[in-house]
Amino acid sequence: MENCIFCKIVAGEIPSQKVYEDDTILAFKDIDPKAPVHTIVIPKAHIASLNEVDGDNLKDIAHLISKIPQIAKEQGVDASGYRVVNNIGRDGGQTVAHIHFHILGGRALQWPPG
Ligand code: 5GP
Ligand code: ZN
Repeated sequence: MENCIFCKIVAGEIPSQKVYEDDTILAFKDIDPKAPVHTIVIPKAHIASLNEVDGDNLKDIAHLISKIPQIAKEQGVDASGYRVVNNIGRDGGQTVAHIHFHILGGRALQWPPG
């Protein structure tokens, strides 16, 4: 998808600190971390948000979610706990229109968020 920051990261046109990659998903460190561990996990195929998940792309999202515990473990937060966040649209705080799941950890996180 043209002009999508995360598609450019997938294509290698924008550098990123990758922490996990396979055929269909990519995980990399957030450029502006909100916690000691802040990893972004995306499908390589462009899906704008959870609102666009359908029968065709659900397999990639299911695979992505199944890999989150492994990625969290590799980031060292599996035992202490962590949070997975998916922001959707304007009021949800989504700033990049390519579906992504935040893995946040390494400190006690507040609840509820603002
Ligand atoms: P959102 O607010 O859409 O849920 O999250 C987007 C996240 O992507 C933000 O936490 C932001 O810091 C991160 N981000 C935006 N641009 C880049 C980039 O070019 N590289 C990396 N690694 N992260 C980015
Ligand atoms: Zn994209």
